[in-house]
Amino acid sequence: MVELAQVMVVTPHPDDAEFGAAGTVARWVRDGKSIVYVVCSSGDKGTSDPNVKPEELVRIREQEQLAAAKLLGVSDVVFLHYIDQALEDTPEFRKNIVRQIRRYQPEIVMAADPYRRYLWHRDHRISGQVTLDAVFPYARDRLAYPDLLEEGLQPHKVKEVLLWATEDPNYRSDITDTFDIKLAALRCHKSQVGDFTRIEQWVRQRAKDMAKGENFELAEAFHRVEIWW
Ligand SMILES: [Zn+2]
Repeated sequence: MVELAQVMVVTPHPDDAEFGAAGTVARWVRDGKSIVYVVCSSGDKGTSDPNVKPEELVRIREQEQLAAAKLLGVSDVVFLHYIDQALEDTPEFRKNIVRQIRRYQPEIVMAADPYRRYLWHRDHRISGQVTLDAVFPYARDRLAYPDLLEEGLQPHKVKEVLLWATEDPNYRSDITDTFDIKLAALRCHKSQVGDFTRIEQWVRQRAKDMAKGENFELAEAFHRVEIWW
């Protein structure tokens, strides 16, 4: 049986989707859209605590991600379990993302912008690039993966990709009414957001900056790619 979702969020690690897109996700859930999260790595290197083992961190961070997703109203969370800081642009990774796209058949896919310059987490860059490639042309093309066809996973055309953390925003999403939900979702990532007062100030200021020139107060900004063919 194929489950469906209107929006797929491909996040490199737990918490990235909350920083980049949770206000928009919460608004869409209110509008009745179904959302799936695909979590590439469970973030097994995301600590400075010498007493926390990677497998323990995976367990904690997956629970945090599930809590944030539940709070936002995300209907499904898929963990791909790649090793943190080890994402590579491989045929296997690309096919895995294609598999999720064909399984859920989203109209919109959200991911980290791979084209942020200079300092940018390699996993963010790689997951964004692989997601774009998976959307087009690999998920779309019938003959790209004959074995997925045999599994019953038909080709799928995504209509739109929204990339967060972009240096080239062309779409600003109004999150004024869902900003508090975004903050609450971020707060679920307790292992990552120690001093939340400082993070809240930073997130709020960014959301204000992203809304500059718009007739709303708080925004998430994306580079939006529409796919016509
Ligand atoms: Zn990350």
